Amino acid sequence: MTKATSYSILFEPVKIGPVTARNRFFQVPHCNGMGHVRPQAEAAMRGMKAEGGWAVVCNQETEIHPTSDLSPFAENRLWDARDIPALRLMTDTVHDKGSLAAIELVHNGNHTQNLLSRAPVLAPSDMSLDHPHPKQARAMDKSDIRNFRRWHRDAAVRSRDAGFDVVYVYAGHNMSLAQHFLLPHMNERTDEYGGSLENRLRLTRELLEDTREAVGDTCAVAFRFAVDEMLGGDGMQAAEEGRAVVEMLAELPDLWDVNVASWANDSITSRFQPQDGYQNDYISFVKSKTTKPVVGVGRLTSPDMMVSMVRKGIVDFIGAARPSIADPFLPQKIEQGRVDEIRECIGCNICVMADSVGAPIRCTQNPTMGEEWRRGWHPEKIAPKGKQKETLVLGAGPAGLECAMQLAKRGYQVTLAEASDSLGGRVLAESHLPGLSAWGRVADHRTHDLRQRANVQIFTQSHLGSQEVLELGIPNVFIATGAKWRRDGRGRSTQRKPAKVDADAAIFTPDDIMGVNMPPMGGVTIYDDDHAYIAGVIAEKLAQDGYDVTFVTPESLVSTFTTLTLEQHRIQARLLELRVTIICNHTLTSVASDHLGIACGFTGRQQRVAGNSAVLVTERIRETAVYDGLIGKGLTTLELIGDAAGPALIADAVFGGHMAARNFERSPEDVDSDWFRREMTSLVAGE
Ligand code: ADP
Ligand code: SF4
Repeated sequence: MTKATSYSILFEPVKIGPVTARNRFFQVPHCNGMGHVRPQAEAAMRGMKAEGGWAVVCNQETEIHPTSDLSPFAENRLWDARDIPALRLMTDTVHDKGSLAAIELVHNGNHTQNLLSRAPVLAPSDMSLDHPHPKQARAMDKSDIRNFRRWHRDAAVRSRDAGFDVVYVYAGHNMSLAQHFLLPHMNERTDEYGGSLENRLRLTRELLEDTREAVGDTCAVAFRFAVDEMLGGDGMQAAEEGRAVVEMLAELPDLWDVNVASWANDSITSRFQPQDGYQNDYISFVKSKTTKPVVGVGRLTSPDMMVSMVRKGIVDFIGAARPSIADPFLPQKIEQGRVDEIRECIGCNICVMADSVGAPIRCTQNPTMGEEWRRGWHPEKIAPKGKQKETLVLGAGPAGLECAMQLAKRGYQVTLAEASDSLGGRVLAESHLPGLSAWGRVADHRTHDLRQRANVQIFTQSHLGSQEVLELGIPNVFIATGAKWRRDGRGRSTQRKPAKVDADAAIFTPDDIMGVNMPPMGGVTIYDDDHAYIAGVIAEKLAQDGYDVTFVTPESLVSTFTTLTLEQHRIQARLLELRVTIICNHTLTSVASDHLGIACGFTGRQQRVAGNSAVLVTERIRETAVYDGLIGKGLTTLELIGDAAGPALIADAVFGGHMAARNFERSPEDVDSDWFRREMTSLVAGE
């Protein structure tokens, strides 16, 4: 049996009400920071999923009315008929590639702030907003409920007119009015929409019936429902009301799209949930309650797991958001028996981060994500080589590996030289820290690809200086030598007042900890001026190893940036559970052999934290010695990429490596034209 045949069950067509999906791969709704602000980018990105074999491609939450205004976040919008053409771009593109297009209609209730529309915020009962914003939502009266149903119905009709095949009613992620009515802690009503489960479910039932009435003959009606809030007895549980909801609505929708709430649980990072299929225990009951097809998610990248989920009757469709972002061609690769080419999602949530700040989506593993329209990048295709023949890539971290792989795909002769004895650079080093083993996939995917190629030569244990590079005689050189954490305490918070560092202070950096140059056992103080994941994960490691750890940060939370990757609350909880002492709102003033001096960020009041060693997580210094030594030495190409060009996220290093390979031998004018492909606001006045 070929690999492709053993997975053939995944390629069976499945009927969803009046429409049929060509296989079982279902890209569930996911945000992307494009939406109504960048509709051409969104259409091209969704079209790429369809081209890659996803039989159903959903958009993202689509606001149905100005009372559900998610500004400043860039989701989809269908307030009235003027929004149809932008959405039509997506349905046309998805249809052209042979897939079904789905729309997730939503009224976000108290999850909105209505900052653009300045409309009142609506909720089942009077309550605060879901954002720390001093405005309250008001309880919907009967006319509000009638209006809401009309808006939803009208939006369903407009969805059909925009060409969608599947129309969603959405009760998930604690982000939608339908779910807010369902949850007792948000619904204190005493009328027929509050109290018993049947009453709390009334609005959802009406929405499903309204939607079917509006579009039933031509479009399928899907219901996205969070069966469990993962709060035990403090929230909805799959074993109790979650199950009852499925039983009560069993045959009403044409499709059940089931998951867990909140978003931080549904899209949990690999650091806190390394297993794929992690939602199966919650959703597996659903199929026994309905004859309608079921889609489920859980960072599914393994085709064996997918087959077993279908065979065991857990799902009919393999749902994916992040795995489809990391590899839009995942279905096609499985179908064609190219499983080893899948770019597996690493569960880092950098995709989520971008949406959370209103920026277009990006992905650590897939540097073309979000660049389909703007730069015309295709995840599986790249232009063939130009006139040049030979290239050298120095450094095999994420930037060097990606650059080398893409240059090789273009057909150049590639020499990849790496100082250490293994490939991967920072991703390899970081993957040995607690919970970050999935980071290794960034290196694995690229290393595997490079090792297959006859036009690639890889040299490890090859620390080259600029003279040695010149002696190789390769005219095109890409320098990906990375960056090292600094040990002088300089960083964001100490730029104006540098910390006083004693010569006998025992100072360590993340590079020391990852390189197993460990502090002597005892008290260690970590100073985090970086605010991403590294300092927190090092605190976790040292605490696990038995050190007495104090964590100092100028921010008011540990690892603040990770709020955007939906894991800050878990990181802080883990450190507290490990008895790490956390001191927030303090900046570094001095480092001595037996203590750290810190000062309150508000009052300047000084204090000392006793401890033999300090781990300073502040800034990184770019490794540019080889690059500097090659300037003006007559090379045809000399380019600095990745962290050596600008320390940032792993996603940025991969992107930098990819872009350098794409742009190699292009004219500066052509390269510039990519930067300036923008979606322009029309100056035609709306009616
Ligand atoms: P990036 O994130 O930009 O890819 P990394 O720090 O992950 O950067 O990787 C840089 C890699 O470059 C490391 O594996 C390092 O060992 C390697 N390197 C640094 N300097 C040299 C050099 N002079 N010769 C060969 N390899 C080098
Ligand atoms: Fe997966 Fe990270 Fe890419 Fe998101 S950014 S799809 S979590 S690899």
